[in-house]
Amino acid sequence: MATSLLILMLFLLPVAKPDSDPVQDFCVPDTGSSPVELTKLSTYPCKNPANVTAGDFVFSGILSPGNFSPETGFAGISVTPVQFPGLNTLGMSFARADFQPGGVNPPHYHPRATETALVLSGRVYSGFVDSTGRVHAKVIEKGEVMVFPRGMIHFQLNLGKSMATIYGSFNSQNPGLVRIPVTVFGSGIRDKVLEKAFGLTKDELEKLKNRFEPKGLIIDD
Ligand code: MN
Repeated sequence: MATSLLILMLFLLPVAKPDSDPVQDFCVPDTGSSPVELTKLSTYPCKNPANVTAGDFVFSGILSPGNFSPETGFAGISVTPVQFPGLNTLGMSFARADFQPGGVNPPHYHPRATETALVLSGRVYSGFVDSTGRVHAKVIEKGEVMVFPRGMIHFQLNLGKSMATIYGSFNSQNPGLVRIPVTVFGSGIRDKVLEKAFGLTKDELEKLKNRFEPKGLIIDD
């Protein structure tokens, strides 16, 4: 009895599932002349394999850094099937991240993917915080890789005197990106909540809100 209960419980445990397994070698979406939309990916037919070329599986959009944010000294380029249709149905995506000296990739998480981050150049203080509140952080150098488990808040800081570059890889074609500062201070959460939660005065909160201008949809009035 106890054994069967244990087996039943094992089946009921929440399991983090990767993206669905593909049912064909690949599925380059056939979108006609319209640009690929991430939420519509599953509605496009696959290109006829006879019309697929090697170029469909090559992406040249991370040859150079993206646009640097003046506040953070960080530039990120996320590559999903929207930018690189050949990735569609393969359960993966990737990113290029560049850091000016002192540049920071602010704390963020990916709700649907674990990330591995390979340092291509530079010295990067890199880490994540687990669900017990413990930080796992270390300076990693060229050729080293850090893993950020799915859903865990993580961050990177360039400690070197020159630029740093990271290649990040995700085990989902749509990892999602939740940036902590803008999510907390730029989403339009009512002031009282933030003042009380973070022990901030009105002025302190105002300063933070100005830095992280509301970009989200404010539905509270
Ligand atoms: Mn990340």
